[in-house]
Amino acid sequence: MKPAAKPARKITAAGAVRDEARFLMNTYKRPPVVFERGRGCYLYDQRGRAYLDFLGGLAVNALGYAHPRLVRVIRREAARVVHVSNLFHNPYQGPLARKLAEWSGMDRVFFTNSGTEAIEGALKLSRLAAHQKFGGMKTKFLALENSFHGRTFGALSITHAAKYRDPFAPLVPGAEFVRFNDVADLEAKFDGSVCAMVIEPIQGEGGVNTISPAFWQKARELATRQGAALIADEIQCGLGRSGRAFVYQRLAGLPDIVVVAKPLAGGLPLGAFLAREEFASAFSPGLHGTTFGGGPLVCAVALEFLRTVEEKGLLENVRARGAQLRDGLLRLAAKFDFIREVRGEGLILGMELSVEGGPYVAEAMRRGLLINCTQDRVLRFLPPFILDARRVEQGLRILETVLAKTARPQQDPASASIEAPAMALAAVR
Ligand SMILES: *Cc1c(COP(=O)(O)O)cnc(C)c1O
Repeated sequence: MKPAAKPARKITAAGAVRDEARFLMNTYKRPPVVFERGRGCYLYDQRGRAYLDFLGGLAVNALGYAHPRLVRVIRREAARVVHVSNLFHNPYQGPLARKLAEWSGMDRVFFTNSGTEAIEGALKLSRLAAHQKFGGMKTKFLALENSFHGRTFGALSITHAAKYRDPFAPLVPGAEFVRFNDVADLEAKFDGSVCAMVIEPIQGEGGVNTISPAFWQKARELATRQGAALIADEIQCGLGRSGRAFVYQRLAGLPDIVVVAKPLAGGLPLGAFLAREEFASAFSPGLHGTTFGGGPLVCAVALEFLRTVEEKGLLENVRARGAQLRDGLLRLAAKFDFIREVRGEGLILGMELSVEGGPYVAEAMRRGLLINCTQDRVLRFLPPFILDARRVEQGLRILETVLAKTARPQQDPASASIEAPAMALAAVR
């Protein structure tokens, strides 16, 4: 006998928010809005109100929402096979790895479920390669001030902000931080005990700071000289967001290991680390693994994402719309004296204020524009690659109103200068 079916409890937006407050761990402060669907560059809340999305789910939704090509592949693969485990082949891992190798100039790929896991894998691979080539003493990791690499212990150990690290001490020993774009500090710290140096070519959470060509070149030189791995964390700035497949492609010398994630599978969880053969060959069966990473559905979607970027000329669109947005932000900077600087390239742009950015983010949301603030005072823009000229103008119009109408927060003299180096926009073009 079947038990009497209980009437299904209808999920309402207010109920969902109440349940979160009661049952979720307290790790995020969220505005009282529930996004129920999205289309193109817009999200819609429980009242059907549209929001122009210049945040893209934190640099993830590069093709916006409900992109027909991704929807088609998700439907098709969901009805075929979602998961087979990594004990077996699947139809898409190989072709996706091949395409990532073509995009990046690396030789081999390992798939993960997130950015932080891919960073962990990259750290493990560089330690392993150092152990195999040099024995047990070459274990130090170098990272940069203002870096962000993720929340697991290894990734956290090379993440600079004390507020993320200190509550969880002790972390993985042997991490050291180099001053951003400071070649002398790099030379002083990059000794024979270093097994890897990790660099975000454009720091995302750190406030949209671009690595200088001279610093990158010196890091490449020192890594080669010391037999250490140069790791590019392009989880946020890579896979097309800068207007190139990878930011390092306009710098001198390839990295040894490249880490990707955010936009890779159009919003489904997928990350990867890619390596040159010299490092990749350190792995043999059993040394590293994952249950979920690189399943057939997510890999099929990632392949479709990369093909769409290629076939629709989206890198050109990122460059053109990025230039348009940056010019608009520079116009605003000339108009409002509390804007200190506009920086970034392609569709990863930052606007540093001399005051707290939070109130502007909240007011933008009230007016139907989603942006974000990092490092307390840097408004950050990470819109989808499919953005068109009209939407750029719409976003800029809303932002101008927001900058004009928001009650100006008090300038906090203690934080009047954040540590991120002021990088003139002209210098990074
Ligand atoms: C988001 C991010 C990570 C962490 O990725 P998760 O998927 O959140 O684990 C690491 N590095 C950079 C540069 C990032 O932007």
